[in-house]
Amino acid sequence: MIRSLGILSMGMGGKSFTSVKPYSVSAELNNRLKGKVAIVTASTDGIGYAIAKRLGNEGASVVICSRKENNVQKAVNELRKEGITVEGVACHVGNAEQRKKLFDIANDKFGGLDILVSNAAVNPGVSPVLETDENVWDKIFEINVKSSWLLAKEAYPNLVKRGGGSIVFISSIAGYQPMSPLGAYSVSKTTLLGLTKAIANEVVTDNIRVNCVAPGIVATKFASAITSSEAAKEQSLSIVPMQRFGKPSEIAAAVAFLASNDASYVTGETIVVAGGAHAHL
Ligand code: NAP
Repeated sequence: MIRSLGILSMGMGGKSFTSVKPYSVSAELNNRLKGKVAIVTASTDGIGYAIAKRLGNEGASVVICSRKENNVQKAVNELRKEGITVEGVACHVGNAEQRKKLFDIANDKFGGLDILVSNAAVNPGVSPVLETDENVWDKIFEINVKSSWLLAKEAYPNLVKRGGGSIVFISSIAGYQPMSPLGAYSVSKTTLLGLTKAIANEVVTDNIRVNCVAPGIVATKFASAITSSEAAKEQSLSIVPMQRFGKPSEIAAAVAFLASNDASYVTGETIVVAGGAHAHL
């Protein structure tokens, strides 16, 4: 087993210098989530799919979902081909009966729940905040905020039964710096930063950690309006010091860390994974 964030001291012409060996992912890291059961919402594509894959590759049994049955089947098949232990179900996170199925599957197929990743979000309209239709505002808050809160509420007794666990919300860099014209969506993502802290404080004595990841711009379907054309791309990257979009796997890596015992002293926090984009409330 290689476990090398090793420091190498080498002699060179009588002098010695120190170099750091590149980190190798060890077998131990691959099994960081062995025995854990995770639910990841909105996980048949994009960031959610990458999170499910990463948690599965680290040894977790994963329950995935999205609204469309055929997307769920396709993703389940792909993840199983990777050797991941996974079950899937069609679940619109705004539907209570369908959310219940996620917990039923985690319990019936895998024996309980240790990790909830609330990743689903919508953005049904783009407009300045004060020109946003009330129904658009309500839809954004229903899915992005209320469903996240309800999922955490429903996960809680399951996590308590296991003696603890981890909840990770997916916010956005837009939660720190509202992106015009994604005003209402941005505010919903700011709300998740507060929700993370509020729940974290309440469940800390249950050995449950609650954290959040705020992705920068990742070239998924969701972000295609701000990543696909050359003009949109240039405008979007103007706030990103690294001058590139993030990859779903880079968001998944932060989620896996927060879900794992490596983050055992981390709760109520948000990790910004945004290529250096300014993130300050
Ligand atoms: P995406 O690639 O478009 O994937 C969306 C996934 O969500 C699909 O699997 C979709 O499948 C599912 N889905 C959509 N609505 C759902 C619902 N109501 N219930 C359950 N599943 C649903 O999106 P993404 O870019 O990965 O975004 C994932 C998260 O990252 C969101 O919270 C988003 O706000 C956040 N984020 C994204 C970016 C970015 O630049 N991409 C940046 C910051 C934050 P079905 O169609 O089958 O439902």
